[in-house]
Amino acid sequence: MRPLQMVDTGNQYLKIKKEIDDAVIKVMESSQFIGGKAVNEFATDLASYNGSKHVITCANGTDALQIAMMALGIKAGDEVITPSFTYIATVEVAALLGVKPIFVEVDKKSFCIDPAAIEKAITPKTKAIIPVHLYGHAADMEPIMQIAQKHNLFVIEDNAQAIGNEYHFSDGTVKKTGSIGHIGCTSFYPSKNLGAFGDGGAMFTEDDSLAEQLKMIASHGQSRRYYHDVVGCNSRLDAMQAVILGIKLKHLDEYNNARRKAADFYDAAFMGHRNITVPFRAENNHHVFHQYTLILENVDRDGLNSFLAENGIPSMIYYPVPAHKQKMFDAFGGNLFDLPLTDWLTERVISLPIHTEMDQEQQKYICEKVLEFVNKN
Ligand SMILES: *Cc1c(COP(=O)(O)O)cnc(C)c1O
Repeated sequence: MRPLQMVDTGNQYLKIKKEIDDAVIKVMESSQFIGGKAVNEFATDLASYNGSKHVITCANGTDALQIAMMALGIKAGDEVITPSFTYIATVEVAALLGVKPIFVEVDKKSFCIDPAAIEKAITPKTKAIIPVHLYGHAADMEPIMQIAQKHNLFVIEDNAQAIGNEYHFSDGTVKKTGSIGHIGCTSFYPSKNLGAFGDGGAMFTEDDSLAEQLKMIASHGQSRRYYHDVVGCNSRLDAMQAVILGIKLKHLDEYNNARRKAADFYDAAFMGHRNITVPFRAENNHHVFHQYTLILENVDRDGLNSFLAENGIPSMIYYPVPAHKQKMFDAFGGNLFDLPLTDWLTERVISLPIHTEMDQEQQKYICEKVLEFVNKN
């Protein structure tokens, strides 16, 4: 059996090696490393893929979230509503700008922000809601957009884990995640569903003037060269990453289908087990399985993690400590938030290897070992 990894970007590369190598060599020969044609072409292709009017590329997904908040004029003293059950980047950038994250509960099934919890958390200082499409499952955007409209709030989607997911509205409209809120943010970190060979990120918007702001802030607040209108930062995608991403974008739907197929295989092995809950797939969603995450009840999770490791199977806890309990948020009163469901989930989730290159022999072995441990305990 081939060795097991959480993600297998190496074997994925081998399948498109010639195309990638040629494209990278062309960039080297062109000497145009930053900006230029390659980056613009990728941005155009990604906009058309995602059904978004504008795509502004940047250096990583964390920057995308920060630049989004800056472009919306969210500043020190303001509040944003976000889940605590997320990767730290979502809320770290708020803190960096002096913006207070107001942590709310997630939905037990989807792991995404609970729309019912949002309205109660709104205060006169609230400026935005930041839903995170965790593990590749979309947050319930229809009620979230309704709440935002009612209270005049912005919505920034953290789409770092769900690129390619499609959300179905009750009127039949279908939109790609990242194109629903005022700004969508994504990451091209190598292990993401659309991963570069280094860092990268992008922002999506339908709004022309917001697009101008995002572009300006990502480029030192420049309106034209050496004229700086607002305080910005330096955040750019380089041309080599852009050509690699352009090639991989053509395979993204096929990659996401491979992830879904791997998830189906796991589901078939674990569904209905009294100690295991398989990932939920809402009907209004097309889950892209950035992670395959189980909830374990009455199982020694650390024991399973070690047992799997002893058998050559990696597994991960995303995330062992919720954001509101991270030390960095002590100063923001993080510990004052009472989020029992978030705590409950962080104590019970475990993610198994999932990627585009899994074969059934590998998956069968993983399932056998998981069940062997769970059933004997
Ligand atoms: C990866 C990730 C980010 C940050 O992206 P980087 O490119 O690593 O900066 C933000 N939010 C979520 C949910 C992520 O998974």
